[in-house]
Amino acid sequence: MVATFDRIARNSGYGLLVTPLFEDIGVFVRGVGEHTDVVTKEMYDFSDKGGRHIALRPEVTAQVARAFIQHRPLLPWKVRYGGPQFRYERPQAGRYRQFFQVGAEALGSEDPDLDVEVIALGWDLCESLAVSGVKLWVNSLGDKHCRGKYREVLVAFLAERAGSLCAEHSKRWESNPLRVLDCKKPECKSETAAAPWQIDHLCPECESHWSGVRSGLDDLEIPYEILPRLVRGLDYYTRTTFEFTSSALDGAQNAVGGGGRYGGLIESLGGPPTPGIGLSMGVDRLMLAVGPDASGPRGPEVFVVDLTGGGHARRICGALRRQGIAAERAFDARSLKAQLRSADRVGARFAAIVGEAEAARSVVTLREMEGERRQVEVAVADLAAKLVEARSAPDAVGGS
Ligand code: AMP
Repeated sequence: MVATFDRIARNSGYGLLVTPLFEDIGVFVRGVGEHTDVVTKEMYDFSDKGGRHIALRPEVTAQVARAFIQHRPLLPWKVRYGGPQFRYERPQAGRYRQFFQVGAEALGSEDPDLDVEVIALGWDLCESLAVSGVKLWVNSLGDKHCRGKYREVLVAFLAERAGSLCAEHSKRWESNPLRVLDCKKPECKSETAAAPWQIDHLCPECESHWSGVRSGLDDLEIPYEILPRLVRGLDYYTRTTFEFTSSALDGAQNAVGGGGRYGGLIESLGGPPTPGIGLSMGVDRLMLAVGPDASGPRGPEVFVVDLTGGGHARRICGALRRQGIAAERAFDARSLKAQLRSADRVGARFAAIVGEAEAARSVVTLREMEGERRQVEVAVADLAAKLVEARSAPDAVGGS
């Protein structure tokens, strides 16, 4: 899965960024937001032997912002990443304290096409992995110009219903009314079903951005549904937010990824005003949704079965691998039967068998591991070319 995302993101021009597993806690407090659950409840933090206050990374976006400010790369800056994240959450199916994310961030442009490009990375990953029942949900949160006015409308709406909200939000709805929309409790959900939505209160610039994102998705034939409830609790999130869910997962933990656009993040960490958009996909959840086999690595192109002790397997595998051909072998001078069993187990397409007779004439017996199990004799010198030819020709062996 990680390799699949890597290929998709690299093909779209996203360079690899490797960020540290831990860094100064301030990066996360300011970058993720000091009032968020991630920072107040879920961060693993400690003091090191030099008295520095450190945290294990709960997410990568804040680190990308820190790296951007530190290194000032040319814009637009497009990076991909992959690695473990740490959050002190209540572990359950699909929710772990260490989990693995792949993701991407693109900084330096407000063009809605960049939103579409980032969303497409997540969509294409789900398609490549054949995740079942994938849905893309999108929303726009407006920006600092239209959010204030919308907030007033929402506060007035909530004020009339405050007593009926969940225990937490009947007390704490005014400080962050958007979070009430995101609440999963049935009381809050039903009370806010008819709430006013930000997408109906966008300023002309945000309206035009929102329609640019939707028409871009249409153009790439990426189906989506609008979910006005899809909010993020932080002020620097602006405009686009999105989430991918899979019907293969349980309701509460069915998000396999998501992301959004941000405005003031780089500034909050001391950098120049720079817009950005990010995506992160949960690999553990994708694994749960797809199952271990569907994404399993493909077997080697050839398994060299050496019945002479191992020297031929060493040389033939060495030469094939240097030519970019996936070749495997057995060790410990096993019997023919045991070696063929290993070839079968790793899912090799062909076995290249070298007994004393083949070795004497510098040939191998190339045998199909599936189907008719035909075999043909091939000179060791021609083996690489034959295997490359076989990639595109299902009938390449054509022997007896
Ligand atoms: P977030 O960084 O919170 O926007 O999460 C992005 C994606 O990471 C989610 O859609 C999940 O697929 C995955 N994810 C987040 N938190 C966890 C967790 N504790 N355990 C497993 N996966 C997670």
